[in-house]
Amino acid sequence: MAFNRVDIETKFRRNILLPIYWKYIKHWRVLEYYKKLKEYQWKTIEENRNLQRKKLFELVKYAGQNIPYYKQIIQKNNIRFSEDTIFEDIKKFPILTKDIIRKNFDQLYKFKDNTYYRNTTSGSTGEPAIFYQDRHCLEWQIATKLLFDEWAGRKVGEPIVKLWGAIDDILKGSRGIRGYLKQQLYGVTTLNSYMMTEKNLYDYVQRINKIKPRLILAYSNSIDELCRFIQEQDLSVYFPKAIMTSAGVLFPEFRKRIEEVFHALVFDCYGSREVGDIACNCEKTDELHLIPQIHYLEILNDSGKEANQGESGEIIITLLTNYTMPLIRYNIEDRGVFSKAKCSCGREFPFLKKVEGRIRNIFRNKKGDIIDGGFFIELFYFRDYLKKVQVIQKDYDFIVVNLVLKDHQKIKVANTDFKEIDKKIKLAMGNETEIKFNIVDEIKPSPSGKYLRTFSQIDPQDKNFRE
Ligand SMILES: [Zn+2]
Repeated sequence: MAFNRVDIETKFRRNILLPIYWKYIKHWRVLEYYKKLKEYQWKTIEENRNLQRKKLFELVKYAGQNIPYYKQIIQKNNIRFSEDTIFEDIKKFPILTKDIIRKNFDQLYKFKDNTYYRNTTSGSTGEPAIFYQDRHCLEWQIATKLLFDEWAGRKVGEPIVKLWGAIDDILKGSRGIRGYLKQQLYGVTTLNSYMMTEKNLYDYVQRINKIKPRLILAYSNSIDELCRFIQEQDLSVYFPKAIMTSAGVLFPEFRKRIEEVFHALVFDCYGSREVGDIACNCEKTDELHLIPQIHYLEILNDSGKEANQGESGEIIITLLTNYTMPLIRYNIEDRGVFSKAKCSCGREFPFLKKVEGRIRNIFRNKKGDIIDGGFFIELFYFRDYLKKVQVIQKDYDFIVVNLVLKDHQKIKVANTDFKEIDKKIKLAMGNETEIKFNIVDEIKPSPSGKYLRTFSQIDPQDKNFRE
């Protein structure tokens, strides 16, 4: 049997590079956890539920002993809990919102060792919050990704193309040597979806044809734009085994177009920065399998009670792997529906039927380049004085940024930052763009009640323009 280039590189990565890197250089337990997840998926629903019970109890116990916020909650509400009754006991804990996290931040974490790192999310309500995570959590997150990739037919080390936000590509021109080495190591090539010019889109198609990825991972609206471009230009493109979309709603028309262009299976993954990948569909269904050993999910209806099967409600997540800053009953600000269906794939992981929310927006500049709304949001990450931000494209060369400040004392810092952000927005939108920064007392949600972080008023017919 003759091996081609992709096979040889894959084998080298899978059998030599990655095991050495994870095990001996980083001392990460990624492969061990991945193996565990592969076993868990074939356990019965009761066995998985028992493993989840244990993990949930251990996390709550640890938080109650070590994290000041939870110590107080337990004392104040006189909460008693045990391993046997933890699924009932957990309901006595209040919902953790981003607002509570911001107000009680210093009470919410304790560093166990020096493997912690800072993460942030803007969330669908546009209020950024900061989180600490640690290596243990990261190892499980990588293992989860490997499992979901495997469901989509991509084995460890096989090439992936990611059509994803890469802010440095716009601001610095490239991702540098570290980015290149990471790409070689993991077999992941990132094509920047924050900035999709016609030239870039041509280039992306050529690179996909050269790399021959097993899997393309993409923001749902970005892959849809790429598909339209391929159709309009009548280009020929390599067919990967699968396309996996994330970060945004996979509309049926997106799915249809992806299937037409790439002749590949389409997978949908639900995840977020603060809790990692949560659920993904398998090859047999469009519904999303959850991993009970990583996340404990509740869905609460509009009266705050446990939603019935098929009833839509707010998704409340307990992340079972992060002990540095435990998120217990965290409101992720998405809505979803539990499904009781059994999957013909044989995996007894529970099902999330659908996730609502997560609408992303795209902007267009005068040249017709497509700029993902995520680009603008990322420019405002880690600005501690900010409470809320909203970026609106009023015209091809006019952007309005509405900001609610948390700390008015820091207006000087903010003004300096705005100058720098102004330049960065111009890099993407064009030099002639006017950018107006408005400091406001509040940002009102749209008439439907949904608060939009970014939206463009350019093309109301565009399917991404939702409100
Ligand atoms: Zn399945």
